[in-house]
Amino acid sequence: MPRWCGKLGAAKAKGCDEQMASRIIPVDPFDLVVFGGTGDLARRKIIPALFRRWCAGQMRDGTRIIGAARSERDSEEYRALIGDALAEFAGPAARDADAVTGFLAILDYVTIDATGTLGWSELRDLLNPQRVRAFYFSVGPELFGPLAERLHKHGMADGESRIVVEKPFGNDQSSAEALNRTLTTHFQEHQIYRIDHYLGKETVQNLMAIRFANMLFEPLWNSQYVDHIQITVAETVGVAGRGAYYDHAGAMRDMVQNHLMQLLCLIAMEPPAKFDPDAVRDEKLKVIRALDPVARDDIVRGQYLGDSANAGYREDVGNPDSTTESFAALRVQISNWRWAGTPIYLRTGKRLRARASEIAVVFKETPHSIFGAEAGRHRNILTIRLQPNEGIDLDMTIKEPGPGGMRLVDVPLDMTFAQALGPEAQDVPDAYERLIMDVVRGNQTLFMRCDEVEAAWAWIDPAIRLCEDEALPVLPYDPGSSGPEDALALMHRDGRRWREIKP
Ligand code: NAD
Repeated sequence: MPRWCGKLGAAKAKGCDEQMASRIIPVDPFDLVVFGGTGDLARRKIIPALFRRWCAGQMRDGTRIIGAARSERDSEEYRALIGDALAEFAGPAARDADAVTGFLAILDYVTIDATGTLGWSELRDLLNPQRVRAFYFSVGPELFGPLAERLHKHGMADGESRIVVEKPFGNDQSSAEALNRTLTTHFQEHQIYRIDHYLGKETVQNLMAIRFANMLFEPLWNSQYVDHIQITVAETVGVAGRGAYYDHAGAMRDMVQNHLMQLLCLIAMEPPAKFDPDAVRDEKLKVIRALDPVARDDIVRGQYLGDSANAGYREDVGNPDSTTESFAALRVQISNWRWAGTPIYLRTGKRLRARASEIAVVFKETPHSIFGAEAGRHRNILTIRLQPNEGIDLDMTIKEPGPGGMRLVDVPLDMTFAQALGPEAQDVPDAYERLIMDVVRGNQTLFMRCDEVEAAWAWIDPAIRLCEDEALPVLPYDPGSSGPEDALALMHRDGRRWREIKP
């Protein structure tokens, strides 16, 4: 049994499968401070992710996690708060009382005021300047600047210090630039980790493996062979609970500018020379810079209605006149040699038919059918499913079995990772687990660089202005549907159609 599991008791008892543990490389002891450590994101995602990594044996003795927030409490009270959060959000591993007790023992708490003087000396005295010190900004964006400034002022911005910044990174190009200016006044770019949890998803990283570790696709990965690409991120939930934030953001800012844009970059970028943070991010940036401005006719916006079970969007956000979109569909064009002439359709929305995120690369039909017109029209589609059932489908055309001539049928070659790779694949770390450990290891590949964020805003700002200034209508759609009818028309007019949103 590996040492790092053995020392904390039986690996199994900690939910740490031996075979899995043998592949985990523990990281040197580090200090991680979670600003906003009592907040919703910290309790639901960040601390449970750290707990699961601790259970997996990835943290060596001496590692410390320090919650820092405005409310007054001591470390013991903080551990009790986090104990409850683990029971609620950390899954089966939290049923192991020894594991929970062991993890809670590495937690501390400091009462701190991000905009004042309270707590800063205590925090500095608690940390070890010789080791990696990571500061997670799990607070509202208005506190990013004050936190960076105080960390610097109190001598915590040097050496192996790094900060993790949650989205939103601004709400337009100029606010993103201002935020980047503030952060880079106190920290260097290599110390700043802008987190988009989508990039931590296993299948999103697999996009790069599929493209760049296989010979099969790359020669076909261009406008000569690809008819179009569809990227869908559909949710069944509404915005209740996040209404105040969401009604100012809408789907364009909340989803398209970051998550969908990142997926678009990974699917469309040129092969980087190596799997290195700046090489990958340089290529992503080139894609964003090659995007054409979106035309008015290429955007559809929608807002979900209510039904007998759920409130509609306007009720959810408490604004009867809201014109913010909870659904957006766009037709996007990349003007470069690889993609000229191959449109990319993006679609995201709330309260849709199913929770499903996928990228479909739809290949062109064969130039000539030797089977005649009656064999029908067929094309290969490579579908990369991000959630649920992470995996890949490749639709192939084959002969329909049986006598009676050459009838053709499309069947998927299905590789659901959980089936193909066995039970281990069902236990992949959640996106936050991977990303936080990347921060500690100092690997920025899956984090957005400042120029990437600014370029994404520079592209989407005019589209958002089009929506707002020209009063692009917000079309109502039924909950449980695929969005407004006009989104279907966006593809129909090109002689194409969306893939069905199904779980
Ligand atoms: P929250 O309101 O639940 O928690 C805010 C935290 O900040 C609390 O711990 C509070 O004590 C602390 N805080 C507030 N003012 C402070 C001050 N002056 N000094 C020190 N601490 C202070 O918020 P949340 O939902 O956890 O979100 C945190 C950030 O993460 C926000 O920027 C949000 O947009 C972003 N985010 C949240 C989610 C989510 O699922 N909750 C998802 C993605 C991004």
